[in-house]
Amino acid sequence: MAAPTGGEVWSYLETVEEDLHETAAQAAAEARRVARLLEGRACGVIAGTPQRRLLEDLAPFGLERIFALGRAPGPPPSVEQLGRALAAVAARRAPRLLLFAATPLGCEVAARVAARLRRGLISECVDFARDGDGLAARRSVGGGRAHATVAWCGAPPWVATVSLDALEAVRAGPGDVAEVVAEEADFGAARTELVRRWRVEPRDLDLSEARVVVGIGKPILQRPADLAIVAEVAERLGAALGGSRVVVDGGLLPRERQVGASGKWLAADVYLACGISGSSYHMMGVKAVKHLLAVNLDRGAPIFQRAELGVVGDLFEVLPELRALLAPDPAAGGSGR
Ligand SMILES: Cc1cc2nc3c(=O)[nH]c(=O)nc-3n(C[C@H](O)[C@H](O)[C@H](O)COP(=O)(O)OP(=O)(O)OC[C@H]3O[C@@H](n4cnc5c(N)ncnc54)[C@H](O)[C@@H]3O)c2cc1C
Repeated sequence: MAAPTGGEVWSYLETVEEDLHETAAQAAAEARRVARLLEGRACGVIAGTPQRRLLEDLAPFGLERIFALGRAPGPPPSVEQLGRALAAVAARRAPRLLLFAATPLGCEVAARVAARLRRGLISECVDFARDGDGLAARRSVGGGRAHATVAWCGAPPWVATVSLDALEAVRAGPGDVAEVVAEEADFGAARTELVRRWRVEPRDLDLSEARVVVGIGKPILQRPADLAIVAEVAERLGAALGGSRVVVDGGLLPRERQVGASGKWLAADVYLACGISGSSYHMMGVKAVKHLLAVNLDRGAPIFQRAELGVVGDLFEVLPELRALLAPDPAAGGSGR
C-alpha cells in the first residue's frame, strides 16, 4: 500500500566497539539516496551515544538526524536486544523505511525488527525506485541469474536489508554534523551472552567469508607437492585457499574448500585464480568477487573474460615469483611488499 511521499528514511549505523562499522557510512549514503527518491529526510539510528568523532566521520554522507538509543554502559547489546530497542523506537517515530546493510548482524536485526513491527522485510535489495507514492525494491534472485522487483504491502515502517555489493559510501559534500536526537530505548534483558571472541586466521576462514581467496585448478594434480607453494602464497597474502572441483575430487583439498556452484560462493574483495579455466560452474561461485585476477597458460581461457588482471603464464613459475615478492622483509621485521 502506498503512503504519502516524505517521511524519514533511517539507516541503521552499525558499530564495532566504539567505532563505526565499515558499512555505516555506506548505509547512511543509501538512506540519503532513498530519501531523495521519497522526497523525505535521511536519518540514522545508532545504539548508544555517538562520540563527536563518529558524527564528524558521518557528516559527508548527508544524514540530517541521528537517533541515539540510550543504553546503559556494559557489553554491546545482542541482536535480540537491538531488535527490541529499534522496533520500539521505530513504532514510536514511524519512519517510512528502515535500512540495514546486509551484514550478518544487520540481517538478523532487520528480521527481528520487521517481526516485532509486523511489517514486511525485503532482503538483499540492490536498488530502490519510486512506485507511485510508495517504494519498490529490486533484489537479485537465483544467485544473480535474475532480478525481481518487490514492493511492500501495508503501511510503513518498511524494513529492508541492502546487499553489501550494492552499497557505496557516496559523499554528499563536506556536510554538517547531523543533529543527534536522544531516544529512550528499552533493550530488555540479554538472553544470550558473548562468552569469547577470537580472530580466525585467513586460512581457517570459511571461503564464503574470506576477503581474499587464492584458488588452484587442475594443473596442481600433476604436481601435488607444489600445493605447498600455493598455500604459502595464500598465507603471505592473508588469503584463504580454495580450488576447483577437479582439485577437490582429486583429493588435494577438502570439500569445504571447493569454489563454485556446488561448492562455496565467494564474497571476496580479491580472488586469484591459478590454473582454473573458468567453467560456468566455477564462475557461478565467484560472481560476487570484486576483483578477479587469473594466471593461466592459455590466453583463450574463459577465466580471462572476467579477470581484471590476467597473467598468461605457467603458474609453477608465476607463483614462486609471487612468493618471493611477498617474502617477509627481514630489515623491516614485517611482511614484504
Ligand atoms: C553439476 C556440476 C557441478 C559442478 N560444480 C563445480 C563447482 O562447484 N566448482 C568447480 O570448480 N567446478 C564444478 N564443476 C566442474 C566444472 O564443470 C569444471 O570441470 C571444473 O571447474 C574445471 O576445473 P579446472 O578449471 O581446475 O580445470 P580445467 O577446466 O581442466 O582447467 C585447467 C586450466 O588450467 C590451465 N593450465 C594448465 N596448466 C597450467 C599451468 N602450468 N599454469 C597455468 N595454467 C595452466 C589450462 O589452460 C586450463 O585453463 C561442476 C560440474 C558439474 C557437472
